[in-house]
Amino acid sequence: MRPQILFSLFVPVSSLAGVGPRIAALIEKVAGGRILDLIWHLPTGIIDRRFAPTIREAPEGAIATMTVDVDSHQPPPAHRSRLPYRVRCSDGTGEMTLVFFHARPDYLQRVLPVGTKQVVSGRVEMFDGQVQMTHPDHIAPPEEIASLKRVEPVYGLTAGLTLKTLGKAVRGAVGQAPMLDEWQDPAWLGQQGWPGWKQAVEAAHAPSGPEALEPLRPERARLAYDELLASQLALLLVRARQRQMPGRKTAGDGRLRERVVAALPYRLTSSQEQAGAEIAADMGSQARMLRILQGDVGSGKTVVAFLAMLNAVEAGRQAALMAPTEILARQHHATMAPLAEAAGVGLALITGRDRTKARRAQLEGLESGETALAVGTHALFQEEVAFADLALAVIDEQHRFGVIQRHALRRKGQVPDLLVMTATPIPRTLAMTAYGDLDVSILDEKPAGRTLIKTIGLRQKDHEAALKTVREAASRKEQSYIIFPLVEKTEKSDLASAKQGFETLRDGPLKELNVGLLHGRIPPDERDAVMSSFKSGTTDVLVATTVIEVGVDVPTATVMIIENAEKFGLSQLHQLRGRIGRSDRPSFCYLVVDDRSVSPEASQRINAMLETSDGFEIAERDLTIRGPGEMLGTKQAGDGQFRIADLRKDADILTIARQDTLRVVFG
Ligand code: ADP
Ligand code: MG
Repeated sequence: MRPQILFSLFVPVSSLAGVGPRIAALIEKVAGGRILDLIWHLPTGIIDRRFAPTIREAPEGAIATMTVDVDSHQPPPAHRSRLPYRVRCSDGTGEMTLVFFHARPDYLQRVLPVGTKQVVSGRVEMFDGQVQMTHPDHIAPPEEIASLKRVEPVYGLTAGLTLKTLGKAVRGAVGQAPMLDEWQDPAWLGQQGWPGWKQAVEAAHAPSGPEALEPLRPERARLAYDELLASQLALLLVRARQRQMPGRKTAGDGRLRERVVAALPYRLTSSQEQAGAEIAADMGSQARMLRILQGDVGSGKTVVAFLAMLNAVEAGRQAALMAPTEILARQHHATMAPLAEAAGVGLALITGRDRTKARRAQLEGLESGETALAVGTHALFQEEVAFADLALAVIDEQHRFGVIQRHALRRKGQVPDLLVMTATPIPRTLAMTAYGDLDVSILDEKPAGRTLIKTIGLRQKDHEAALKTVREAASRKEQSYIIFPLVEKTEKSDLASAKQGFETLRDGPLKELNVGLLHGRIPPDERDAVMSSFKSGTTDVLVATTVIEVGVDVPTATVMIIENAEKFGLSQLHQLRGRIGRSDRPSFCYLVVDDRSVSPEASQRINAMLETSDGFEIAERDLTIRGPGEMLGTKQAGDGQFRIADLRKDADILTIARQDTLRVVFG
């Protein structure tokens, strides 16, 4: 499949001179394992080595490239090997000492023979009024001065990998870049003033100064455009093929849906009805459905999904909903069970947890087709789960999933219609790159009677104001969440902060109330018990980590305190806040901030939360603050993240890449 001219780009980095297995592993960690990855590992900074003063002129602190005579070597005295090895040099204007700790004498004698001239480059230091240089970055004979006196690119590194080693590997990789036929429209290149690919690669790795690092520089922009165009092409080709996959018409007669809608304690909003109609029309067409259901938190996506699932059942087929966490799967199951019962349809719950008889019965039900609906975690798509005739797969809160599960789904051998629910609205630019052109249904209307959430920023010392609101809510039989961050990214400390907070609150300021604790390490059965006690109102206050971030639905909860709000990401804060304001009662969200650890970015996030509760606006702000790669949360999955393109700056050329792609794919 791959053209031969590209082979050299896909060779492992260990094929480069000077790259052994140990270095290769480190390079793989920072850049990737192939020559191509090194080519794409663009400089993040520069070191300017063009300054070439005499010893007398050399200013302290400067990076200098100097030509000196090597006068003498002074190894440390025997038994005192912790003292440095010194090499005395001079240049007629003064003297300078080169300093080496843990030196290998044979190496130094080889590169710095007494009586020769050498070029050294590094940072100038003053010690006791003496000019010195500790561990010069480069030592080379004078004929190599031209190659040293340059602007040196600086690359992202990792422990154990020096700039010298990586720089050499990158130069080796760039040297192997083949001359490729131009795939861009020459008129477009000319108009932009962009170089050819190979030239662009070489220029990007040979920055002439700090301005060369800007994304809009021709060589960088050219590479970014290549990347965007390639990803758009890949997405659209996949999409075009999926479109061609023989989909099926799945058109129910509405009888089950009618029953369920009649049983709902509320009326559907008009955007729910419209989304439902769009989905039904799509399922009822011959083409395969690939649709996103976007709606802000609390907009009521679940019931829309459930009605779509019933559409499949009406047509005599099955439907499954996959949730990102066990808690959510159980919650969906709990919400849907009475509705399924109203419709007279079987509903299985499949999570990773049990290996019991009950589970086997559930699996048999799905395999025989007797059970029409299933809700679960990704366990739903394990080998052992077989469906008789799966017509619709709904994926909830998909930004939490990588692409893997989407593939797993296909592996089931069926080509079910696909409905992806996202709670975090995604800015248009991102949606384009992440999903190509999935069809979109939008719930842009909240169920009637919801009041706005009042969001309040608080300093830690004013914490009591928030706790007062918690007590007042409890006296009205309303519940509160108190959320603690992951202090560090280990489960242990996450546990520590929530647990400690829980104990302090329970025994102190909230001792009058019933306080519960929920975090990722509580065993699933206990978790269920904690959740249902909170749902029923037995527990007034739930101290939790972000396990409740997505989807948890307790309409009578009206207060949320987010501790160390500066530590959370913006979409995370928005998701968390979405747990309250789910009824017609006034709701309050307190963002408690520790003044000492607020970065400028953190205060931008907090301000965004105080200024708007519109999910789309939040998403746009998040994109500006954070950048797209992280935002999609799919770093490892490699989807939506770019090596070179920066969607904050390259949005314009993305649009053009997209138009070009449409022209190429669809003519
Ligand atoms: P999300 O879009 O965040 O997933 P959910 O589907 O969890 O939202 O719905 C949030 C809450 O709103 C649930 O308690 C649900 O029962 C309720 N709900 C959904 N649709 C309506 C509606 N049309 N009118 C009133 N309440 C609704
Ligand atoms: Mg939801």
